[in-house]
Amino acid sequence: MAKIIRVNMETKEINQEEAGIYKSYGARGFIARFLTNEVDPTCEPLGLYNKLIICTGLLGGTMISSSGRLSVGAKSPLTNGIKEASAGGTAANDLARHGIRAIIFERLPAADDKNTYVLVISEEGIKLEAMNELLHMGARNTITALRQKFGDKAGIICNGPAGEYMMRGAGIVCAAPRGEMRFAARGGLGAVMGSKRVKAVVIIPAVVSRLEYFDKAVFTEAAKEYHQMLVDAMPTIKKTNQLYGTTGMFKIVNELGLCPTRNFTLGAFDKHAEIGGEKLVELIKVRGGEGKTGQSCMNGCMIKCLSVFPDENGKEICSTVQYENLSLLGSNLCLGSLDSIARLNYKVNDLGLDTIETGAALGVAAEAGIAEFGNEESFMKLLNEIEAATPIGRVIGNGVKITGEVFGINDLPMSKGQAFAGYDPRALKGNGVTFAMSPMGGDHTAGNAYGARATVPPLACEGQGALSYKLQLQMAGLENLGFCMFARAYLFKKPELFTKFAYGICGDKMTVDEFWEQGRETARLEYEYNVKSGVSPAQDKLPEFMYRIPLPPNNTVFDLSNEEMQKGLVH
Ligand code: SF4
Repeated sequence: MAKIIRVNMETKEINQEEAGIYKSYGARGFIARFLTNEVDPTCEPLGLYNKLIICTGLLGGTMISSSGRLSVGAKSPLTNGIKEASAGGTAANDLARHGIRAIIFERLPAADDKNTYVLVISEEGIKLEAMNELLHMGARNTITALRQKFGDKAGIICNGPAGEYMMRGAGIVCAAPRGEMRFAARGGLGAVMGSKRVKAVVIIPAVVSRLEYFDKAVFTEAAKEYHQMLVDAMPTIKKTNQLYGTTGMFKIVNELGLCPTRNFTLGAFDKHAEIGGEKLVELIKVRGGEGKTGQSCMNGCMIKCLSVFPDENGKEICSTVQYENLSLLGSNLCLGSLDSIARLNYKVNDLGLDTIETGAALGVAAEAGIAEFGNEESFMKLLNEIEAATPIGRVIGNGVKITGEVFGINDLPMSKGQAFAGYDPRALKGNGVTFAMSPMGGDHTAGNAYGARATVPPLACEGQGALSYKLQLQMAGLENLGFCMFARAYLFKKPELFTKFAYGICGDKMTVDEFWEQGRETARLEYEYNVKSGVSPAQDKLPEFMYRIPLPPNNTVFDLSNEEMQKGLVH
């Protein structure tokens, strides 16, 4: 059976136990149940009693395409409720092949223990090492330093300086094969890692996989079927995912008038053609050098949505620029240059910050006159302040809510204290339901209505609650297995594959309905946890300006009835 590793940061004891009651749960499913059972919802997020969970999905280590995402969870210092965030990279597959489902960091180092710790997992065992030379090192250099020390195939999960400074906008980085930074970005989980003085987890790949299957024949059959679906869809995948990643969405989002622009005051950006996916691909081709499309964040992924964006000399600026970066660090800041966006994106990543939270905070800072819309340098200056942990840097690094409160801006694009992802809810109302009702706050990965716009029109007032509900269940189910959300277009055509995968790994026989029910139970537990944390149903709403100020060019407000909103509540 898969193992859980417990690391007590106070005593430095490391213990192993079988997954036991958690054997059928991975990633978000595991985190919801574990926090419910073990972490007092009233505890302080950066205090002694919170626990940081690093967890694979059920399919981690199987090398099924796009199924090796890593989930991280804890009580969030940003929302004060439950949080799960997931990342690509190689670490989840590496952990699962050591037979590990989850690592739990518990307690805090003693007050006089100022060391910076790295947990090293290898065939020789698991040990905690002090590596103070890594203190406040940028995430990319941390990955490089650790791969130099432990081998270039080592799986790395690490914290950037923002997390070490316990800034609430910090995420946790998971290294991709070439050292690119992938992010469990949302909810301030990097701050929880920083509170425990854990800089990184290193996984030296297992010589032989210890992953166990309950029924390998059923699993292999389902895997073949799924991979054949991807092979059949490959001509489309090559023209879309592999070429543009998610940046292809930018043009459509802009046309629909739901693209966060100028601190969420407009829904379309006049310089959209300069920063859309088409321009990105054109520049990657023209500039050549290290620029590439069609890269993978983990071994075995056939969808390969990552790109490397180069400068004019062909040297990598950032890998990868995706839709959320174009919108939150581009149009939201009125930056009409992909070079500017890529430079800010790299810097935010290297600091270990969530690009969504930080982009929204920078937009609010510009609104307050602390930076200037359209001026890259003014935003880079603020990122340098974060790096130096100056008072102003700490304000921005703590996210959109604190930035707004300190600088006197009331209309903040957030719900439950967390910045909206790149979809203005006034023009994509299904996402407004998800942002308001989901336990995860302003997080599109909890249930993104963008892909369902042909079924429920983005501006319609009917059907948005039911749509969000369905998407939330689907995402909770998908994330239990560790699948990337970009695989859903294929998997949802044959949801019985989910039940075969789950049976093949852990022996649970389920109907498709029972599989979705498992997702519903995950979201229900999360909601209950939030209520006990003090994140009450009174917070199941959007900020008032969304209901009051029309968003150009559609000139719509968020106007769903309470009855419609309640249909999006998973309970
Ligand atoms: S589709 Fe993209 S994000 Fe998803 S696993 Fe593959 S490379 Fe990573």
